[in-house]
Amino acid sequence: MAVERTFAIIKPHVVVDGNSGDVISLIERNGFDIVGMRKMHISQELAQQFYNVHNQKPFFGELVGNIAASPVIVMALERDGAIGAWRDLMGATNPDAAAIGTLRAMFGKNISFNATHGSDAPETASYELGLFFADL
Ligand code: ADP
Ligand code: MG
Repeated sequence: MAVERTFAIIKPHVVVDGNSGDVISLIERNGFDIVGMRKMHISQELAQQFYNVHNQKPFFGELVGNIAASPVIVMALERDGAIGAWRDLMGATNPDAAAIGTLRAMFGKNISFNATHGSDAPETASYELGLFFADL
């Protein structure tokens, strides 16, 4: 499998609850190299750009508001098959459906507060990494 990079976010509620260290630890233990990492407060404007693909969804406003509510940790992760491997470690979008041992099962509260973000394909990974880690 080829070495890839993917884009990850530890969402605001995880940071507020003091659980970001546990998530970062699991990222390292699962063989990801954290090639970029920054704590930042995503602006409303950047959130709209980032979630642009969802702009027709009924929950778009809520989605943007939640990610821009308070600081997050954004990361560029590198590994063999990083995009799929990170989606696997996160688990299903809805924490109620996420497999035991996945991040969303452990740290997600519900579908709106589901702990983490991960790119879903090579094209979205390069778009998202470009928005947050243009320097890489
Ligand atoms: P994923 O984050 O697993 O890639 P999506 O790209 O489909 O999922 O959705 C982006 C984010 O929007 C999800 O992580 C979740 O927080 C939120 N979301 C998805 N579906 C819903 C929904 N039906 N109601 C509210 N929020 C949702
Ligand atoms: Mg998605």
